[in-house]
Amino acid sequence: MRDSTQQYRALLSQVAARATAYLEDAQARRVAPDDEVVGRLRQWDGAFPDEPMDALALVEMLDSMAGPATVINAGGRFFGFVNGGALPGSLAASWLVNAWDQNAGMMISSPAGAVLEEIALRWTAEILGLPEGCGGGIVTGATMANFSAILAARHAILMRQGWDVEIDGLFGAPPVDVVVSDEVHASFLKALSLAGLGRERVRRVPVDGQGRMRTDRLPKLTPHTLVAIQAGNVNTGSFDPAGEICDDAHDIGAWVHVDGAFGLWATASPTYRHLTDGFAKADSWAMDGHKWPNAGYDCGIVLVREADHLRAAMSASAAYLVSDGRHNPMNYAPEMSRRARGIELWATLRSLGKSGLAALIERTCSYAQRFAEDLRKAGFTILNEVVINQVLVSFGKPERTLAVVKKVQDEGTCWAGSTLWQGQTAMRISVSSWATTEADVDKSLAAIIRAAKETET
Ligand SMILES: *Cc1c(COP(=O)(O)O)cnc(C)c1O
Repeated sequence: MRDSTQQYRALLSQVAARATAYLEDAQARRVAPDDEVVGRLRQWDGAFPDEPMDALALVEMLDSMAGPATVINAGGRFFGFVNGGALPGSLAASWLVNAWDQNAGMMISSPAGAVLEEIALRWTAEILGLPEGCGGGIVTGATMANFSAILAARHAILMRQGWDVEIDGLFGAPPVDVVVSDEVHASFLKALSLAGLGRERVRRVPVDGQGRMRTDRLPKLTPHTLVAIQAGNVNTGSFDPAGEICDDAHDIGAWVHVDGAFGLWATASPTYRHLTDGFAKADSWAMDGHKWPNAGYDCGIVLVREADHLRAAMSASAAYLVSDGRHNPMNYAPEMSRRARGIELWATLRSLGKSGLAALIERTCSYAQRFAEDLRKAGFTILNEVVINQVLVSFGKPERTLAVVKKVQDEGTCWAGSTLWQGQTAMRISVSSWATTEADVDKSLAAIIRAAKETET
């Protein structure tokens, strides 16, 4: 069955019209859907239907039923996790990429995918001030970027000890010691478990009141150590003292990995760049495109100083796979076949340019300051030094803070989640979207303060 050009025209113009209406409506909608709307989707949960369905009817069904059950990332008032909202350039590129349906695993199967991925990776390294000659891959998110970097480090550390982990596996292998901070992100521990290094087989370094690794408590490192540091704590936004840690680690030949999911992008702003001093000295870096740069989901980036280690960790051999000396993305990531995310990252970065990216970072940081100042003025406690885009606010007793978070989420003007910060329950506000405006901040502050007043005891 082949749709005629005419059918594509009708179908895709319908998609464009509906998607446009969704985005235009995004500002007015409740940020998170209520349970009833989500529950309606269960109507589809019957047996797998016998008959095919026309694509136009599918679009209508999805838009009317699933659209209302979405979280409005696009509206500028979602402050949960560290979610961006796809930039117009990123969204538009992703539509094209989907029409092209490229398999970006190899240059030969998607020249555009492979070339633009290479350029996007090089630009990312340039933006972040990382060494020329580093290389990497584009994956689904920082979790997979952390995982990929761990595999590169594992390869390098074991190879130095004469062990080929890709061929012989981990049973009987020499040890790889892992050092993390007490504030390590859960995704890094997950990545360690995926890599066979064990989630709890780590040495944890205590942190200070902002969640920064305490260098005076760094354990003895060896050439077999992988030290993981953070640029941008997921709660406070704080940065580990990278320069000192990298110097200590490199004196002994240890590997330093940076989980820089969102924070490392602060390098793009002349105002905030000093916060990321020293991180470029590390050996590998994990970033998200779908957080601060506001690429659409899903987009993570791994970069490795000596990319051959990543390549060795990700290599595969089969007679039909080409090894043509060109940049084949599948040699730098766990996946073989995959969508051409590199094109979307290229489009995201190209649409912003240096000045646009710096402005996005600075604007979201200044809104975070506004949140902190106005909530403090309203009598609430800001638990962190607001160094970038993350704000932790306590409304008093844990129960009250949780009640305020729930009220805010149910009321729907904006959305923020809760967290536990060094024993204190907090609302966590992450300003990460290009779409957030001053007016969004005003409205959201009013909604949060209203909710807090209503929970006064
Ligand atoms: C978000 C985040 C991750 C995980 O990223 P995903 O894109 O969800 O895989 C890892 N580390 C930090 C610091 C993060 O903020």
